[in-house]
Amino acid sequence: MNHLKLTDIEKHYGKVRVLNQINLEIGEGQMVCLLGPSGCGKSTLLKIIAGLEMPDSGGIEFKGVNWSGLDAKKRRVGMVFQHYSLFPNLNALQNVAFGLEMKRMPRKQSQKEAEEWLERVGLQDFRNRYPHQMSGGQQQRVALARALAPSPDLLLLDEPLSALDAAVRLSLRGEIRRLQLQLGITAVFVTHDQAEALAIADRVALMREGSIVEYDDPQIMYSNPNCFFTSSFIGVVSVMEGTIVSLSPPIAKVCDGMVALPYLDEKKAEIGRKIRIVMHAEDIELSEGFSENGRFDPLRGQIYNLDFLGKTKRYTIRSSDGNTFFVEVQANGHMDFQIGQTVEMIVRPENMHVFDARTEESLKSAGGRGKNMKDGLLNTG
Ligand code: ADP
Ligand code: MG
Repeated sequence: MNHLKLTDIEKHYGKVRVLNQINLEIGEGQMVCLLGPSGCGKSTLLKIIAGLEMPDSGGIEFKGVNWSGLDAKKRRVGMVFQHYSLFPNLNALQNVAFGLEMKRMPRKQSQKEAEEWLERVGLQDFRNRYPHQMSGGQQQRVALARALAPSPDLLLLDEPLSALDAAVRLSLRGEIRRLQLQLGITAVFVTHDQAEALAIADRVALMREGSIVEYDDPQIMYSNPNCFFTSSFIGVVSVMEGTIVSLSPPIAKVCDGMVALPYLDEKKAEIGRKIRIVMHAEDIELSEGFSENGRFDPLRGQIYNLDFLGKTKRYTIRSSDGNTFFVEVQANGHMDFQIGQTVEMIVRPENMHVFDARTEESLKSAGGRGKNMKDGLLNTG
């Protein structure tokens, strides 16, 4: 049975439609990320689940119970927000105990349980600290303990890590996931950071302008996206515009050359169709020189910029027709290219994700699907 089920949710603010036909089913104990650019409606959807906003139409069911019109207080939901929403006049222990006391738990027991929760989030020594005496990461740990202490049925998190620095973000995200799995609690986690979403979610719902464009597990979202928007939003990618010029064999004209597209779904394609080809930065290999590659000119460009990222480095490359490519390679690899140098870019056909330029749907055949997710992606956050 689905734990949480949203059906045809619509929401307007004034004349502006903020959510459009949202359908989402979340299984028990799953962590689902609502991912998407700023302003696409993530927080509004989360507030509707919490009962803090009412949809114009559509239904919400939780464990088979109709939540539409149910008061927020009657939904057993724990929430964590981006801005540490702790009570400034209460110390860490009192903040965590607050929700328990609201449930009329006797004071002695609520203090004991609050202490246990502080210990679970690694803050047993901070019980007497007030919010202004704690770092952002520590405050978010208290906020997490406070949300979980009353044993909610559902945990909702709205960009809980976005105000933290990179190292804290990484460790706290692991902590949130560990606790969520340990408790087996169903959770909805809002973020605009694709690496964060892929790292912690069982399933990702990618949103665009009030709609869910794709809902799948992170590996599929990354390696076999259904639409151009997903492909361009997830990972570090380069996009080539092109036109299909032949179907057997499938060939497209791109930039100032031709590429073979052996994994094109010929049933969906036709000659003259405008396409977009998306490639992940770690799927492009570089070589120097000017080899002749059978019937096709290799993709060529000039190194325009170089970013050192630690374990990897990322080249920005411009082709002669002005297209930009991003290529990520091991930083300690033996290939080193200089800014201004001309290089060849080699991409395996199965790593070219082909989309219809107008409808944005994938034109890749089933045979070209099933590439495994690369570890490198998770380091981009
Ligand atoms: P996200 O969390 O994805 O950044 P939001 O759900 O906060 O997006 O907002 C979606 C859209 O709704 C935005 O265009 C925002 O300006 C608008 N919006 C959000 N809350 C309100 C409100 N209370 N009144 C009017 N417009 C709002
Ligand atoms: Mg938001």
